[in-house]
Amino acid sequence: MVFNWFRKTTLCPSCDSQWDGNRCFRCGYIKKLSGRQSRLLEQIKAFFDPVTHSPEEIYNRNQLIPQAPGVYAWYFDNHFGTYFTVNTPSPQKIVLDSAANRDWYLLYIGIAGKKRGRTLRDRIGDHLNQNSEGSTLRQSLAALLGPEIKLNSAMQLNGENEKQKLNRWIFQHARVSWVRTSKAERIEELMIRNFGGNLRFNIKGNKSNTCRKELQRLRKSWRKAGK
Ligand SMILES: [Zn+2]
Repeated sequence: MVFNWFRKTTLCPSCDSQWDGNRCFRCGYIKKLSGRQSRLLEQIKAFFDPVTHSPEEIYNRNQLIPQAPGVYAWYFDNHFGTYFTVNTPSPQKIVLDSAANRDWYLLYIGIAGKKRGRTLRDRIGDHLNQNSEGSTLRQSLAALLGPEIKLNSAMQLNGENEKQKLNRWIFQHARVSWVRTSKAERIEELMIRNFGGNLRFNIKGNKSNTCRKELQRLRKSWRKAGK
């Protein structure tokens, strides 16, 4: 009992906010990585204090995204608030876009790793160009937003018109950030293990995502509508 009390009241050594003694949802600090793996830790922490990019800007000028391996993250505004808060724990507000006076939530990470030989530009490009089959993030967004933004589910995001309907929503409600690194797989694994509860759109291997089952169900019925 004393141990539990101690853990709950100890503050994150990196940012002084309340934490669980292992990882900090505010700044991304992971106790296990401090010391010997400080470079890895800095790269992870960058997603909690990110330089974000407007998806509209990078859609129009994709040469802004590096042709290199790395990890990228998608942030969304509180559009999904009602949906996500019924599935606790709720995501953390971690980015403040002061110009727009909006909070942003880190909800998805992905990698451009060595294995498949694709770059950050390729992968982030997929999230702005692919049909429902070609990007799991686009499929999730379509499954959630379909009726609201009047997607034609039979089209499964094929065709310029359907693609742009979803893109218009993404341009308004999302931001993206990336870190160049050759350790993409390792960072992905650490992010999902430590912050998986926040990463609502990371489904594969992310057991702490309490929205996982519901999203899978919605995605399945979305795909079925395309057949
Ligand atoms: Zn912290």
